[in-house]
Amino acid sequence: MERVLRSVISPPFYETTVTGLWCTVYLVVIPSETRDLQFLTIESNPRFLVAFPLLGMTKGEVPKRSPASPVQSSLNASQEPEMKVLTEYLKFHTKTHRAYVHITPQVESAVKKSGVQEGMALVSAMHITAGIYVNDNESGLIEDIDQWLEKLAPFNKNYQHHQTGEDNGDSHLKALLIHHEVVVPITAGNLDLGTWQRIFYAEFDGQRDKRVIVKVMGE
Ligand code: ZN
Repeated sequence: MERVLRSVISPPFYETTVTGLWCTVYLVVIPSETRDLQFLTIESNPRFLVAFPLLGMTKGEVPKRSPASPVQSSLNASQEPEMKVLTEYLKFHTKTHRAYVHITPQVESAVKKSGVQEGMALVSAMHITAGIYVNDNESGLIEDIDQWLEKLAPFNKNYQHHQTGEDNGDSHLKALLIHHEVVVPITAGNLDLGTWQRIFYAEFDGQRDKRVIVKVMGE
């Protein structure tokens, strides 16, 4: 203990309060015979001397990681998980002006194709009158969502947007309410969704060609 005290090399390293007590922290070099020392706190009320083992160092040295040998390096390279990215585009042309399309299977197949085991998938509508959401694949709820959106953002002719000659002001607002994208987790090579969670493409200005980007990323 005295040896450690004698080997103090720094002026007070910093001062701090730990568990409400005022502490002064010093950097010290610990002799090699005390190599098993992990952490030392010496009480000298009202201050503490805290010693951290700086093994194999002499004064003024900065600890460095020893460079890996070529054999180790090649082993590490082959063991390092490889970052994978897959991009797919899903195409839509709905028969109705508004539609809610279940797309979990398409996203799942993109995940399988990517080979990603741990990561995430971004699913994003590439339009300003369509969205992506995660919720229950239940027909009554889908009807409720449609009625709720129509109540919040009803179709009418008087939107400012219509001065441009368009008539889809409500479609833009409905898309804003749903949001345009989701990120879903991938665990052990599968979409890690909750029991009732399903991914949907929400169309608010259909009967034309639309796209969704699916970007799968991970290891
Ligand atoms: Zn518009």
